[in-house]
Amino acid sequence: MKFIIQKIICPLLVALPLMANAQCGQCFCSQSSGNTTQNTVAATPWAGAITKQDIADNPQYYNHFTDGQMRIDLIFGGNAAEQKIYLSGLKAEPVWGGTRKNLVPDFEYGEYRMEVIDPQSGKVIYANGFNTLFQEWRTMEEAQHTSKAFKSSCRIPYPKNNIKFVIYERLREKGSYSKLAEFSIDPADKSINRERENNFAVVPILDNGHPQNKVDLVFIAEGYSSSEMDKFRSDVQKHMQYLFDTEPYKHRKSDFNIWAVESVSNNSGTDIPHHDIWKQTVANSNFYTFKTDRYLTASDHTLLCQLSSNVPCDAIYVIVNTEKYGGGGIYNFYGLSMSDHPTTPMVFVHEFGHSFAGLADEYFYDTAESFTDMYNIAIEPWEPNITSLVEFEKKWKDMLVEGTPIPTPVVKGKEQELGVYEGGGYMTKGIYRPVDNCRMRTNNAPCFCPVCQRAIERMIDYYCK
Ligand SMILES: [Zn+2]
Repeated sequence: MKFIIQKIICPLLVALPLMANAQCGQCFCSQSSGNTTQNTVAATPWAGAITKQDIADNPQYYNHFTDGQMRIDLIFGGNAAEQKIYLSGLKAEPVWGGTRKNLVPDFEYGEYRMEVIDPQSGKVIYANGFNTLFQEWRTMEEAQHTSKAFKSSCRIPYPKNNIKFVIYERLREKGSYSKLAEFSIDPADKSINRERENNFAVVPILDNGHPQNKVDLVFIAEGYSSSEMDKFRSDVQKHMQYLFDTEPYKHRKSDFNIWAVESVSNNSGTDIPHHDIWKQTVANSNFYTFKTDRYLTASDHTLLCQLSSNVPCDAIYVIVNTEKYGGGGIYNFYGLSMSDHPTTPMVFVHEFGHSFAGLADEYFYDTAESFTDMYNIAIEPWEPNITSLVEFEKKWKDMLVEGTPIPTPVVKGKEQELGVYEGGGYMTKGIYRPVDNCRMRTNNAPCFCPVCQRAIERMIDYYCK
């Protein structure tokens, strides 16, 4: 039988003390490239170029792929009991911003996995994991009696030859992947869309070199009117500062490129349906996702991919122009949160932890009967910063001081000491977290725990090394 949960929502549901806003006073750079009238795809330039040496160093990549990107637009439909995926379109985009080295990552994160297969050899030539908002919806009570469809897109390096594109779902009972859909794609097909989808200005905020070995973080403006673009650029500068004030991002700053897409909305703000507030905005975001007030999301993932289609992109982060507390982060999908709340810095870094590094929430509820079912504790969860102890050696066992008691008791003054603390992933029992209070648990945590920091560094390495 399928499990049903009450929605567990990020940002953190637990009541938290507000902290002083850590905004920087840094001015924003104003190198806006202005709107362009091009109708075919072209990328915004960046520092560095692909060299002959790069091509020689990445034979696997260049045997199979060009420097461009293919976007595969999909419809995920179904209910709690079943799901199906339909192909809705293919799009050629100017640049693959992802890795050219780690084509099949050595970690298996995500509720879904995409694989690009060379039909000649049968070999997997590219793979990656991801989550979707649809998968979260499937755990809602509504999905027990209603079927719905959500738009989502996958991005892969542009293939040189015919490929098979396969999507797998993770099975709750076993934790392993099972094939869900398969599509044959001919990259020379003339019907693949090559149009430029928008003319919003793309501003390089931090340019550390060629996207092939950098994390390209793309900030999208949501709910900013044309007269508020100065505010958006300032908000991007502040978010960049929040990120690079936090370890391990702080000492890995040179591994990032930061881009700002000046996507203009007709109205300022966002939808708050339960207050009868509706705004015309470019990413169509809203509060009250799944009827939870602070769950701020944008349900159309393809729309966000369209907004970021003219820029090298490894990670999408949407800044929503609102003072109301809310946000969400979905692994290898997008992160999204409010621009102007005292907790904006902490919530942004927390949500980006989900969307970029696949981190789990480390919080839980002391009295929550309804959350005993969130994870199947008979298997090891895939997220790097929680464990059911079934395969703890795959997690942070190697980092523990010998003799650390399991479970580790919480000792006042030693909340940041590495251990195996019971409670995490919304569950009081059966799931364990690395320290008592990490950024993935509360907004008042001083930092990420060592396990989250290592997981973030490994993700940066995946993109850059
Ligand atoms: Zn942590």
